[in-house]
Amino acid sequence: MAGVVLKDVCKVYDGGVYAVNRVNLEIRDRELMVLVGPSGCGKSTTLRMVAGLEEISSGTISIGSRVVNNVPPKDRDIAMVFQNYALYPHKTVYENMAFGLRLRRFPKADIDRRVRSAAAVLGISECLDRKPKALSGGQRQRVAVGRAIVRKPEVFLFDEPLSNLDAKMRVQMRTEISKLHTRLETTMIYVTHDQTEAMTMGDRICVMKDGVIQQVDTPLNIYDRPVNTFVAGFIGTPPMNIFRGVIQRKGSQLVFRNSNISVTVPEGWKEAAQKYAEREILFGIRPEDIGAEEAVHPEGEQCLMAKVEVIEPMGAETYLYLDAVTENGASCIARVDAHKQVKVGEMLSLPLRFDNAHLFDPESTGILV
Ligand code: ADP
Repeated sequence: MAGVVLKDVCKVYDGGVYAVNRVNLEIRDRELMVLVGPSGCGKSTTLRMVAGLEEISSGTISIGSRVVNNVPPKDRDIAMVFQNYALYPHKTVYENMAFGLRLRRFPKADIDRRVRSAAAVLGISECLDRKPKALSGGQRQRVAVGRAIVRKPEVFLFDEPLSNLDAKMRVQMRTEISKLHTRLETTMIYVTHDQTEAMTMGDRICVMKDGVIQQVDTPLNIYDRPVNTFVAGFIGTPPMNIFRGVIQRKGSQLVFRNSNISVTVPEGWKEAAQKYAEREILFGIRPEDIGAEEAVHPEGEQCLMAKVEVIEPMGAETYLYLDAVTENGASCIARVDAHKQVKVGEMLSLPLRFDNAHLFDPESTGILV
């Protein structure tokens, strides 16, 4: 068993572009760490450097107690599952799974035992004699995982392994990989651009942007306390609504105000908000905290006033797109009870719940409270 430690790791491509910039990250033994971020943020490059498929420009990477900077991929005791599965089309499923073990000169009986046991775990025993083209997308994906688990490596690396599957299969495989992680008790690093995968699978999540780590924490801590507006907007669907406004003094109170919102700043926020009195600030609130039935306020106080533009019934709840403009230019979204009676064009006064709302600095975009 082994953890993985990245210390000051950089990857600079020709032309001086930092694909990965001073990454410091500790993946604990047996942890499932998800690297997540938008396309081009450097997550695959980070994973490929751990695998040894990409050279490190500077820094060190350790697997267990061993620095692996100069260790070739085959000697790192890792197994990687790729986005395109990288199966051999002319070999059977059995041979695809056995191939890596044969190269390493495992005894035949051991190979057979490992392949059949992995196939049973993954539910593909009946496919062992087929070629990849005779498999569904989900089955191919399982073969790719099977080929990794027969090796019983110290660390599994997954590079967007579910992105070629349809939505339903993705959800199914997501839970299967989580179960596999529990069963194998092995360290896993999982790369995805999909925040739902990150939230649902990760013991911890590492959010990246432009080659730089933004935040590393458990999914719920990141959801509840994003360090900046980027993380707030990236984790959670629909994303947190971020509004620009000003802090105004009103007697002994402070009020956050813009064209749609006028709210008295809660006691606990006063100290932080004080420094922004008569200045701009960013106010972030999640869609489920707008228009929640239990947050009823008299006379429209502590409310967001906006017109309904689009109504999206999701079944268990309804998304309302409102004409209050957010910092990224998109409509504000509220998640309300599916049975709430609303019409397009209607002007609503929706109460806000502050427990999970935040203030951010408009310059640095960092969280204030
Ligand atoms: P992600 O996996 O998050 O989508 P990557 O790690 O693939 O991002 O890429 C990070 C950045 O490095 C991107 O800006 C990408 O264009 C750049 N990059 C990746 N591979 C190369 C390469 N071989 N040469 C030059 N730039 C590259």
